[in-house]
Amino acid sequence: MMDDDKKISRRSFLKGAMFLAAGTAIPLAAFSRNALADAKVSKAAMHYQDTPNGSAHCSTCIQFIPGSGGGNGTCKVVAGSISPNGWCLAYAPK
Ligand code: SF4
Repeated sequence: MMDDDKKISRRSFLKGAMFLAAGTAIPLAAFSRNALADAKVSKAAMHYQDTPNGSAHCSTCIQFIPGSGGGNGTCKVVAGSISPNGWCLAYAPK
């Protein structure tokens, strides 16, 4: 009789643990996906510079998001304010 009670309680515990694991795994997975999508690399890591590298510069890069009025914009890869005349290692021409 005691063994049956222990088995039931152990089984109940395992079901509860599985339910909790399933309930927390989905939000964590969604959070991780969003965090990765939003993550940008530092300027230093990408050797960003405010000047072009020959004819290559941010305004001709596929990752560049222009700012208003032709001023600094942003980048899909590198964090911070990005000059249209800048350049980094991740340069990819349009
Ligand atoms: S990836 Fe580099 S070169 Fe391209 S826009 Fe971003 S900072 Fe500029």
